[in-house]
Amino acid sequence: MHPHPPLDPADWDEFRALGKQMIDDIADHLSGIRERPVWQQVPEEVAASFRTGLPEEGRPMAEVYEEYRRTIQPYPRGNIHPRFWGWANGSGVPVAAYGDLLASVLNCTLGSGGNAAMMVERQVIDWIGEALGWPQAGSGLLTSGASMGQVTALAAARAARAPEFREAGAAGSGVRFTVYGSTETHHSVDKAVELLGIGGRFFRRVPVDSDFRVDVAALRAAIRADRTAGLTPLCVVGNAGTVNTGAVDPLADLLAVAREEGLWYHVDGAFGAFARLLPSHRPLLEGLTEADSLVLDLHKWLYMPFDVSCLLTRRDGDLETAFRSGADYISKTKQGPAAFPLAFSDRGVEQSRRFRALKVWFALKTYGIRAFADSIAGNVAQVAHLVTLVEAAEDLELAARSDLNVACFRYVWPGATPEALDRVNRAVLDRLQTDGTAMPSHTVLGGRFVLRVANNNHRSTTADFDHLVTEVRRWGAVYAAAETGR
Ligand SMILES: *Cc1c(COP(=O)(O)O)cnc(C)c1O
Repeated sequence: MHPHPPLDPADWDEFRALGKQMIDDIADHLSGIRERPVWQQVPEEVAASFRTGLPEEGRPMAEVYEEYRRTIQPYPRGNIHPRFWGWANGSGVPVAAYGDLLASVLNCTLGSGGNAAMMVERQVIDWIGEALGWPQAGSGLLTSGASMGQVTALAAARAARAPEFREAGAAGSGVRFTVYGSTETHHSVDKAVELLGIGGRFFRRVPVDSDFRVDVAALRAAIRADRTAGLTPLCVVGNAGTVNTGAVDPLADLLAVAREEGLWYHVDGAFGAFARLLPSHRPLLEGLTEADSLVLDLHKWLYMPFDVSCLLTRRDGDLETAFRSGADYISKTKQGPAAFPLAFSDRGVEQSRRFRALKVWFALKTYGIRAFADSIAGNVAQVAHLVTLVEAAEDLELAARSDLNVACFRYVWPGATPEALDRVNRAVLDRLQTDGTAMPSHTVLGGRFVLRVANNNHRSTTADFDHLVTEVRRWGAVYAAAETGR
């Protein structure tokens, strides 16, 4: 008899039974999600359970699962609920969760090696490219998120432009780079330029027009001024859907500037790039597929469970130029597992990488890209419906809309001061969120506090937006009455 491995189940039948119970409970939970609050505060006695010390001895796994059911499952972020539209979170396709479970069971790491998992990631990257119309000669990498994608893409830009930089660093190469993007660009680009040693100050934030789209003339002027000052313009970042308002920069114009100036063209399409799946939105996104690099979050508008994002590059080898290292212990052999031609660890920062491609493979095989495109089109239509409701209501004011899945609005009344409007809209948002009615988030536009809806939710219906508008107006009237003393 073999000795029993201490961390495997002592009884596989018990393991099997608990797994079956979990799958039953998952199906109950997800099929009943609409009846639950979107969000609820973690009660203090539950919060206290997360401050207890390290377990010395174990307990039966069924007991641990019961504790999960009591203390964790009821208090999630809420983005699996059909009325969650905060920030830029996706809703999570259930069958993809099976993919995640199976990925953990196989427990592959996707740095290098000849195995099916590596082929699945390569295939998923190819599929994403195919869905968008990305050049076939391109390359890519799945990453944890668009934030990691931006760092990786900008590192590729830098290596393409100044190969000596890897070895010599900023000091040794003497190059002083600048990067350009609109004032609406996501803060992950700031993180990237800081991490890469370009310096936050050298990320030039170009002003936007009244629709929050980058001012191309101002961009040209900024590049010219930097060249005159002896700096080296490196990269233009275009936004295909800004996080604040869903604005899409004039991507084709930015492409033209980048080509004329010889700059790398990177597009942040974290959620907005998925609108490429809709024929109606192709003109809006013209220029996107000509970029040198593009990031898009499959955990946003492709509804995958966190985390999975995709970085695409125009040319094969661009990522390797920035990241390949010649360590002996990962060098290739003539045959066997180490003979595989592709190493994802040569395309980015991470060596150990989870098998995040499997959930995408599972979901795309199960539903086909058409079903995803339909859901995305549905989200666009729902936000257009919301905009119509807001515009029709005297007591609501539209602050920004996009052609994608974002809209910002607020409750108003005649004669209100700016301060009173901010207070009332904050109170309305607090009420909706803490009651678990609906979960928009907020932003500040032109100094005004506004409610913000970003619809990356495959479970939402038009009726959910009717409900949102009804509730905003109901609570707006209550808090406005309290403000005005009427
Ligand atoms: C969410 C988002 C990011 C950051 O992506 P993560 O996946 O959260 O790292 C970057 N840009 C935009 C426009 C986003 O919406």
